Amino acid sequence: MPQTRLSVTLLAHTPDALALIYAAFRQCYHPGYVADMWPRLLAGEITAEKQAAFVGRILDSGHESPIEHVSFTFAVAGVSRALSHQLVRHRIASYSQQSQRYVDAAGFDYVLPPQVAAIPEARERFTAAMEQAGAAYAELQEILTRHGRGDKANEDARFVLPNACETKVVTTMNCRSLLHFFELRCCTRAQWEIRAMALSMLRLCQEALPVIFSGAGARCERLGYCPEAARFTCGRYPLLEQIGSISS
Ligand SMILES: Cc1cc2nc3c(=O)[nH]c(=O)nc-3n(C[C@H](O)[C@H](O)[C@H](O)COP(=O)(O)OP(=O)(O)OC[C@H]3O[C@@H](n4cnc5c(N)ncnc54)[C@H](O)[C@@H]3O)c2cc1C
Repeated sequence: MPQTRLSVTLLAHTPDALALIYAAFRQCYHPGYVADMWPRLLAGEITAEKQAAFVGRILDSGHESPIEHVSFTFAVAGVSRALSHQLVRHRIASYSQQSQRYVDAAGFDYVLPPQVAAIPEARERFTAAMEQAGAAYAELQEILTRHGRGDKANEDARFVLPNACETKVVTTMNCRSLLHFFELRCCTRAQWEIRAMALSMLRLCQEALPVIFSGAGARCERLGYCPEAARFTCGRYPLLEQIGSISS
């Protein structure tokens, strides 16, 4: 029953992403038909720099819906069921998750929280719990199979699996949803595991489409101050009330 580590891979994103966002924005403000402009956009008649400048300007005004036309699809592995439960709370997204009904979890991999790993006594207790859960799962599979549950044994035995159990997910989010996801999950207030995943996704998005993602991250990155209550702030940015007292 090995420990596992986070893996995030960008499988795909909408092709011609910048041109597509540019075209969607232009359609809002241009009297002509954007489909007529599309071949010229693809031919590079309007440079990527010009497209990016235009997109950046309009985005800054708060007009965000045109970036919904571009989506990113990630494969994620080495994450816990505790993480995936938090991830799927983000409703403006699509998910395909490894099934615990169809996939045999005997000998499952698990995520060991670093804070547990750092304390030998906690690590030992944690590892023992994983082994106990694994043994209970295997015994239940055997008992249920013996009592005629056949290929349904996994779906009942899985009830003893822990939150730490590894899962694999494919997720797709559009750019607007991703910006929102990063605002919530790149913040130090987010739980460490989903934050690590969000930061990995953010880095991949920044490489692929910097015009949208270069300034993305926790809400403070955009606002320039921390919108959290004083007891929650990490101190990286001043609180809103501190900014107010500086400027007054
Ligand atoms: C630090 C932190 C702690 C959290 N703690 C808890 C917790 O203790 N318990 C818990 O249950 N959850 C908790 N959550 C989860 C949180 O409440 C959200 O469910 C999750 O972050 C998904 O965010 P979202 O709804 O904004 O995203 P999405 O579901 O992707 O929605 C995006 C946006 O669409 C709009 N939207 C979507 N659906 C609706 C709707 N039905 N009605 C109106 N507007 C809608 C909203 O503007 C929303 O922000 C926590 C999240 C964070 C980041």
